[in-house]
Amino acid sequence: MTFKDLSLSEELLRALGERGYQNPTPIQKQAIPHVLMARDLLGCAQTGTGKTASFVLPMIDILDQGRARMRMPRSLILEPTRELAAQVAENFDLYGKYHKLTKALLIGGVTFGEQDKLLDRGVDVLIATPGRLLDHFERGNVLLNDVKILVIDEADRMLDMGFIPDIERIFKLTPFTRQTLFFSATMAPEIERITNTFLSAPVRVETARQATASERIKQSVVMFTSKRKDREASEKRELLRQVIDSEGKNCTNAIIFCNRKTDVDICSKSLKKHGYHAAPIHGDLDQTKRTETLESFREGGLQILVASDVAARGLDIPSVSHVFNFDVPIQAEDYIHRIGRTGRAGRDGTAIMIC
Ligand code: AMP
Repeated sequence: MTFKDLSLSEELLRALGERGYQNPTPIQKQAIPHVLMARDLLGCAQTGTGKTASFVLPMIDILDQGRARMRMPRSLILEPTRELAAQVAENFDLYGKYHKLTKALLIGGVTFGEQDKLLDRGVDVLIATPGRLLDHFERGNVLLNDVKILVIDEADRMLDMGFIPDIERIFKLTPFTRQTLFFSATMAPEIERITNTFLSAPVRVETARQATASERIKQSVVMFTSKRKDREASEKRELLRQVIDSEGKNCTNAIIFCNRKTDVDICSKSLKKHGYHAAPIHGDLDQTKRTETLESFREGGLQILVASDVAARGLDIPSVSHVFNFDVPIQAEDYIHRIGRTGRAGRDGTAIMIC
């Protein structure tokens, strides 16, 4: 599929062509047709997937019709940081070079006066960080009654930064009839709640970061069939110990991944019982305990971390010599994330999976 198949305008195709982009990325393929049809969108995607163009491109074509009124932007894009806001603005300049859209950027570090003048004249696109936008709103510089498209980008970072109350307020200041495009790399319960409240029958699109494993990771699998069904679990743990032992001194530290939290606990306990220096980490353990465990693993005090995918994902885990998959992950993507914990920064790594 090329961009031509997405019903985008000639002007956009020209700008894309000049940039050297022929084929839409998976998120663009999925999102653009729905955005053009005025649907609400819930996109689960990270940066690096082409997410920005997935909303900027259709927005340019939609906004091409109609004109902005004084102080009443026709679309609003919220970003958690100045840098991201500036990046989105650049995308509008880049792809919108053959359109006559106007935009303003409301971020810290840019004087109120300058942006005021732009807003006064009326803008098609307003790109802002939530705090700065509300500042302007309170000064009466901007009205949100004419916002037809609202984009919330990087919602999980907004959550981390404490912006969710601001976002809720902004949602309520925009018309009920707006089209909403909402992006988040993860769907925390708080984010789920917001989308349930403010989005109307959204189309869900999802793409993970396009991931490939580092060539420095030696990957292998060990096939496992239990001899006795009633002892399958303990036989599997015995095999895990054999696999770890067979790596000998090469295994300086390791993360063992299990699919279920209960297995994380059982596996960790069993390893400890057999004399390994292991500790569990998963979402049900309290934060203090998790931080402690991680700290000790980082400092080299703890040799083996037994983890669930979710617990390991957001955490800054240092490079390790080995990753053992006690279970085959359910999602193929998770395999890449898991083994990517080893073989970092030019070092060699080993990944072994029990199948
Ligand atoms: P983003 O995920 O929006 O931060 O985009 C990541 C990078 O991919 C940016 O440098 C974009 O310019 C680039 N990009 C976006 N769409 C495409 C495409 N269809 N083909 C190639 N590169 C793209």
